[in-house]
Amino acid sequence: MRVLLTGAAGFIGSHLCDRLLAEGHSVVGLDNFVTGSPENIAHLAGHERFLFIRHDVSNYIYIPGRVEAVMHFASPASPNPHSPFGYPNLPIQTLKAGALGTHNALGVARAHQARFLLASTSEIYGDPLEHPQRETYFGHVNPVGPRSMYDEAKRFAEAITMAYHGHHRLDTRIARIFNTYGPRMRLDDGRVVPNLIGQALRGEPLTVYGDGLQTRSFCYVDDLVEGILRLLLSDEHLPVNLGNPSEISIRDFAERISRMSGGRSSITFLADRRGADDPQRRQPDISRAREILGWLPQVDLDRGLQTTLGSFAGRMGLP
Ligand code: NAD
Ligand code: UDP
Repeated sequence: MRVLLTGAAGFIGSHLCDRLLAEGHSVVGLDNFVTGSPENIAHLAGHERFLFIRHDVSNYIYIPGRVEAVMHFASPASPNPHSPFGYPNLPIQTLKAGALGTHNALGVARAHQARFLLASTSEIYGDPLEHPQRETYFGHVNPVGPRSMYDEAKRFAEAITMAYHGHHRLDTRIARIFNTYGPRMRLDDGRVVPNLIGQALRGEPLTVYGDGLQTRSFCYVDDLVEGILRLLLSDEHLPVNLGNPSEISIRDFAERISRMSGGRSSITFLADRRGADDPQRRQPDISRAREILGWLPQVDLDRGLQTTLGSFAGRMGLP
């Protein structure tokens, strides 16, 4: 296939590029580098099946030549208000990437009669009252809260994707992605994995927001990419959760990172972010992905973190 991938220079996008190219597909990557980095795709320069176009997806997208699949991953993704790369500091861009960007990407898919896959998110469920989260749960989302520029943009993106499917008969997929981590995350985007690993490698205290009893379930990027590709090749139009169901509190997660990096770092507890609508529990129910795609994550947290630690250390110039 010739695949248009928006957000190609981002963390997940760049791993998807690698995998699609390795499978023999051609990739047209689009990105405006608002949160991604040219470094993530530097190794693809000159690849005969990779074409990069610097472009903001909120503006009309024109792709000459054939396109068989459109994968829409362009969007800021970190909720951290202390980072310039967090979506609270990019509110209009985030709303536009989710709304106008999704509309434009759907338009390309329609013009080419291509299949379409949306990178949606567990934030669709907000601070969930159902646990673990199944795709049938409608969510508990604050439409005017500090995460609303992301959550509501993604909810709109799902709605317009379903409208193109129902009204224009477009062949669409919706991946609800839960916390994913691995090499190439921005060290400074404020998400918990790069934040804590960066702090641990610098020998600084690890910052845990609140009591650290809030939970997340972390999926290694290779597992996610496998699930995304299986979904792309499936016939499933309804949303599918993709994530690793193994749940851990942020406090335990910080202790694990401290231990794995030599135990030099203490943990410091900062003000909690409940007022910032920080979800208190998050764990995907992946029964649908297992049944429909035959997909199960393979990489456990220790192995994934070890690889991620090693890659971050390399980027920081540490041995
Ligand atoms: P990322 O910030 O590394 O990647 C996003 C990419 O999109 C960046 O390269 C950025 O420059 C690009 N981008 C943003 N706005 C753009 C625009 N208007 N035009 C062109 N390019 C634009 O983040 P990520 O973690 O790789 O996330 C990728 C996608 O997956 C996002 O849509 C995100 O919402 C979704 N997602 C990620 C996670 C996760 O845990 N990593 C969880 C749920 C959903
Ligand atoms: N968090 C933390 N310390 C940090 C960064 C994040 O304790 O330095 C917490 C954050 O409050 C949240 C969880 O870790 O409860 C995951 O945060 P992240 O920013 O990775 O994304 P989220 O899953 O909230 O979208």
